[in-house]
Amino acid sequence: MKCAERALPDFGVDVDWYTTRERTYEEVLPWDHLDSGLDKDWLWEDWQDALDETEVDDCRWTPCFDCGVCPAMQTEIQVGPTGKKLLPLSVIK
Ligand code: SF4
Repeated sequence: MKCAERALPDFGVDVDWYTTRERTYEEVLPWDHLDSGLDKDWLWEDWQDALDETEVDDCRWTPCFDCGVCPAMQTEIQVGPTGKKLLPLSVIK
């Protein structure tokens, strides 16, 4: 048991409520105050995928997933001067 888990209940703080409980889409989520350009809907779906242990491919090597970052940050995925994808790494035999 971690220090906070031992100490905070004495002050009426339910650590599980802040850390591990189920959350709903409608509530203020822990990351809502951060703005990295990601759409809230996309982040929610990505979180649900993570909970389901569903892997999401890296958008550098797949079609865009419309997460919102590129238009929000006015950028785009760029490939190096060779035009070759360097990842995923292939096995050399
Ligand atoms: S290409 Fe840009 S907008 Fe599309 S999924 Fe990747 S980071 Fe998001």
